[in-house]
Amino acid sequence: MADMSRVGIPAIEGGDPERLTDIDYAHQDINDDDVAAVARVLKSDFLTTGPRVREMEERLCELTGAKYAVACSSDTAALHIACKASGLGEGEEGITTPITFAASANCMLYVGARPVFADIDEKTWNIDPAEIEKKITDKTRVVIPVDYTGATTDLQAVREICDRHGLVMIEDAAHSIGTKFNGKHIGKIAHMTTFSFHPAKTITGGEGGAIVTDSEDYYKKLLLYRTHAITRDRSLMKREPDGPWYYEQLDLSMNYRLTDIQAGLIISQLNRLDVFSARRKKIVQRYNEAFADVPQLILQQEVPQVDATRHLYILRLNPEKISVDRRRFFEAMGAEHVICNVHYIPVYRHPYYEELGYTAGLCPKAEKLYDEMLTIPLYPAMSDSDVEDVIRAVKKLCHYYAK
Ligand SMILES: *Cc1c(COP(=O)(O)O)cnc(C)c1O
Repeated sequence: MADMSRVGIPAIEGGDPERLTDIDYAHQDINDDDVAAVARVLKSDFLTTGPRVREMEERLCELTGAKYAVACSSDTAALHIACKASGLGEGEEGITTPITFAASANCMLYVGARPVFADIDEKTWNIDPAEIEKKITDKTRVVIPVDYTGATTDLQAVREICDRHGLVMIEDAAHSIGTKFNGKHIGKIAHMTTFSFHPAKTITGGEGGAIVTDSEDYYKKLLLYRTHAITRDRSLMKREPDGPWYYEQLDLSMNYRLTDIQAGLIISQLNRLDVFSARRKKIVQRYNEAFADVPQLILQQEVPQVDATRHLYILRLNPEKISVDRRRFFEAMGAEHVICNVHYIPVYRHPYYEELGYTAGLCPKAEKLYDEMLTIPLYPAMSDSDVEDVIRAVKKLCHYYAK
């Protein structure tokens, strides 16, 4: 029997007697090839942005079909310089979903703009294109849809809205490397698409990010903003060089470079993307089958155009069929050795956003989803028996707490 005492809730009959170790909600998968790839870089001439970063950028272009890719230190950095490249600034607005990691909205604050939150679709839990349209004003410059869990909204519809209103679409694809929309890997629909290589995500570099785009103009700006807006490119300079050492700073930016060490790891992980993707899809399919007829649960639905490689698998509790709240269910899962998480607290509910004037009730569908959902484990290294243990725990609690 699992140890229920540590979470202060009553024991449930038939706790998993076999399971002694916790299953985490996410975990990286590093093999000997990954280790060797990093070791090779460490013994090479370049530790920071060099040949491995360029190779990684080429690989991202191949994967997505985009013309250009810019690797950078994180998806947060990628979103920041994408906002800068779009021209977003003081007095302007950008639209995003509240159900995301804070970085998707913070990037607008970094450039002095105001994030505006559009509510989610009740079924896909992704930003609702109709809600985006309602939030457009004459101050709007960008729209940042997030491919939530690895599934997407109707990206084509979002692009059409952006084109109609002259807006820049920046897709936050932190969750969705491996995902296809209309049969093609994402990265060609938005003006700029950003990725994360944090260890919880499908592909990792320890940390890391990237932007893909078809626009040469954005590409050149992104390269500048990645490294202090400093250039040695004669065609960009404002003055005549006074010697071969000469370079110019043209704007204010940060050091957002990715190291070759991280790029080496990311390239090695990209070699395994198909394997990771297939395994994630298999687990998601098994979960979908197992939970389809459990009345206590509501599952995320996908738009028909999407073939998702999911980064997260989220269960929503049906309050009409279950007698406990999400908190209690979450703790009971922990007692079953299944470590869950919650993705996400609606961004504008954070104290910092409250200080900026955002209030509860802004996006009621998102707030309701937040109250009812939890993230269960999903990562390629889960064994089939781990998957079955998660299913058993979920079904047991649903049965136990049914009303
Ligand atoms: C993880 C994540 C980010 C931030 O990525 P980092 O690489 O950690 O900066 C941004 N947006 C979403 C949706 C994420 O999940």
